[in-house]
Amino acid sequence: MNLFELTVHQILDQIKAGKISASSVLAEVSARAQTLNVKTNAFVRLFPSPEIKAGPCPVPIAIKDNICVKGELTTCGSKILKGFKPPYDAGVVDKIKASGGLILGSANMDEFAFGSSCETSAYGPTRNPWALDRVPGGSSGGSAAAVAAGQALWALGSDTGGSIRQPASFCGVVGLKPTYGRVSRYGLIAFGSSLDQIGPFTKDVTDSALLLNIICGFDERDSTSLNVPVPDYTKALVKDINGLKIGIPQEYFLDGIEPDVAAAVKAAIEVFKKQGAVVKHISLPHTEYAVATYYIVATAEASSNLARFDGVQYGLRAMPPNLRKSPLIDMYEETRARGFGDEAKRRIMLGTYVLSSGYYDAYYLRAQKVRTLIKQDFDKVFSDCDVILSPTSPTTAFRIGEKINDPLAMYLSDIFTIPANMAGIPAISVPCGFDRAGLPIGLQLMAKPFAEETLLRAAYAYEQNTPWHLERAVL
Ligand code: GLN
Repeated sequence: MNLFELTVHQILDQIKAGKISASSVLAEVSARAQTLNVKTNAFVRLFPSPEIKAGPCPVPIAIKDNICVKGELTTCGSKILKGFKPPYDAGVVDKIKASGGLILGSANMDEFAFGSSCETSAYGPTRNPWALDRVPGGSSGGSAAAVAAGQALWALGSDTGGSIRQPASFCGVVGLKPTYGRVSRYGLIAFGSSLDQIGPFTKDVTDSALLLNIICGFDERDSTSLNVPVPDYTKALVKDINGLKIGIPQEYFLDGIEPDVAAAVKAAIEVFKKQGAVVKHISLPHTEYAVATYYIVATAEASSNLARFDGVQYGLRAMPPNLRKSPLIDMYEETRARGFGDEAKRRIMLGTYVLSSGYYDAYYLRAQKVRTLIKQDFDKVFSDCDVILSPTSPTTAFRIGEKINDPLAMYLSDIFTIPANMAGIPAISVPCGFDRAGLPIGLQLMAKPFAEETLLRAAYAYEQNTPWHLERAVL
């Protein structure tokens, strides 16, 4: 195997054994990042070669373009942040650097993380390493594709409604969205502040535990970061799941799921049963409202978060050719008209509408109440289940261009991932097979708040009894 095909734990073992050096790994992976990018467009930019410093994890990593890296362009896949170089590192970037991590560059993403296909990026779409005419999923499509293509050994993304899990599933890698508050959002350019969470993309579950160990923990610079102890997640990697109670929600197996996806997930359930897990059929009755509720809460928060991009403080500043209203208003309008893409504008309009006086009670307030009901569905189920199992997405990777002009079809790609963000609970996507076209399928596991160890244990036990995580895209 080539070095870029190995997992991080395999690489670290070989470095420890003196068989390879961190610099040879860096050289091979950065060369691949560069040459393959013409095909995948997984990176919107590669940074100058990082310096190898002391630390336990000196491996090349891709960072989503909405996570601030000091002194390097950080643009959220948008034209409006043109030229923006953050004067500080995000909390997770501090931790990556302290662990010796080697940041290769910014991974492509849907503009401001609005999307499920990476096609709304101002820097062109990323292509799925398993089939270059297909999307990698989104919004963290660049991060998922970089790991699947061996253009980075692992990556960070962010997940507001599925943006880590859905692209992980489309690209055949492991993606984990931690509990809300588990990982610092300091320096993550906000989309939906009550939903966003940063998490790892890796080739297998062991690497997911390793990267989670690095990025977790309290950060006083993020007021929603929780001050709870961080366990060593690698300790959860035991194969024993005898007696583990797994809930299968009936609402997640409706028509509209591709038959190959349904079959792969059903086969996965059998793998769990064989190892002694107890499978129960459960109901999450408010699931049907999750997408609608999400598109009120998330767009409301997005419209408020995006108000700061006005041409005054950072990024693009544009003026119309002739004076229209006043120089200041003209600058705001022209900057935002030129800087934001269609989907960002759509979200800003939706969000502003649901927050506006007269509509706030009917939409935003009501959505918050439904959000509580969704959360209560989970609380009830978790009183008698350790893990909930479902497909990650109803389909495998769709074709570039297939859904871009149909926002509703695009939004439905996240129907199974959105509820976890609404409830703040952790969830993981692991590879569970391939469809008849050879495209990866993802299995989602969800657990109660701060039960990442349970998630990892279940995911690891599944992975160790199946071959899917060993497959690599050939490019
Ligand atoms: N696809 C969903 C959306 O468009 C989720 C995006 C995300 O998690 N950032 O909002």
